[in-house]
Amino acid sequence: MAIVIQKYGGSSVGTTEKIRKVAQTIISRREKGDKVVVVVSAMGDATDDLINLAKAITDNPDKRELDALLSTGEMVSSSLLAMAIKALGYDAVSYTAYQLGIKTTGNYGKSLIDDINETKIKDSLDEDKIVIVAGFQGINEDGDITTLGRGGSDTTAVAIAVKVKGICEIYTDVDGIYNVDPRLYKNAKKLDSIDYEEMLELASLGAQVMHSRSIELGQKYRIPIYVGLSNSDIKGTIIKEVNNMNMEGKPVTGVATSDDDISVTLKELAVDINILADIFDTLGSNKINIDMISQTAPFNNKVNVSFTVPKDDLNECRSILLNFIEENNISMDTDITKFSIVGIGMKSTSGVAARMFKVFKENNITVKMITTSEIRITCSIKKEDKMKAIELMAEEFNL
Ligand code: ASP
Ligand code: MG
Repeated sequence: MAIVIQKYGGSSVGTTEKIRKVAQTIISRREKGDKVVVVVSAMGDATDDLINLAKAITDNPDKRELDALLSTGEMVSSSLLAMAIKALGYDAVSYTAYQLGIKTTGNYGKSLIDDINETKIKDSLDEDKIVIVAGFQGINEDGDITTLGRGGSDTTAVAIAVKVKGICEIYTDVDGIYNVDPRLYKNAKKLDSIDYEEMLELASLGAQVMHSRSIELGQKYRIPIYVGLSNSDIKGTIIKEVNNMNMEGKPVTGVATSDDDISVTLKELAVDINILADIFDTLGSNKINIDMISQTAPFNNKVNVSFTVPKDDLNECRSILLNFIEENNISMDTDITKFSIVGIGMKSTSGVAARMFKVFKENNITVKMITTSEIRITCSIKKEDKMKAIELMAEEFNL
């Protein structure tokens, strides 16, 4: 008899009808003979609603109190779900993080799970109960309630799967992981499986299907994670270890794009590593996240340095830069897309970047900046070239 950890996202438990439906689904899983632990998110937009309540009190709510407030969303959904299961004649019990000893460390609003005392879960399963856990919350060293960051219930689910050595299934409102965002590209294909590392790269590029920390945990403890629709015959995607090459031997698994950044160019900067270090240090200590740094070859002892920053930080970034460099020498380009190809197969295939640049060149797509990791190549291109770039890469790499 396997232990199955299922996580239901906010949209799956958005109304009391939906909660009753989820209760049915859980019971039918139970009927197949598995022991079931369920992690739930807050109902629908409950977390946003709670944040708005706090903001109506003050612009800058106290972080400890905010976490206490936000944790109530999952307490509501977990107890309602346990009630719904009991009303259908099956035994169930809901637990908060405090009751389960979900220990966290780190800051309010983005704490990490340190440990879970799995005894209570196992005892309740042995008593033939369906166990319902409030996701997204933990208790820190001071005994305060903390939350794991938006979308953190995924991480609660994977952490429990690690502790009870169970199978992990994440049910959400998407039917799986696609090789290209299906809202952008109608020929996008769903992947049967994807490697943890690829999924992490996609998540860092803005494909917000899952809480990244949950994927890191899955990778660390080798727990395969199924992602898909609940109550559906449509098959989802398994995140697991895919040993260097995807099944079809393609070097590229997927494409990701992001329009959330701008590129900044500092013109005719004196060649002096100290200035550059100072600039990046100041931007960093103001929590402005720099990416895609590139620099031209020195000419007359001057260089141009470009990098990208999130759009939201544009004004703050400009005012910091003005402490170092004249307004005329700063140019900001809002018309960029960060375009990435990702694939675990790149580790063992050479020439992938060359193929990408050749196709772009032949099709007049100008690449301004480039960064790479072992399994990703990211370029900044003009926004207007985005769709063309997706189609070209889908064709070139047979996606
Ligand atoms: N309810 C929380 C959120 O909306 C946590 C979660 O959904 O996983 O971010
Ligand atoms: Mg949610």
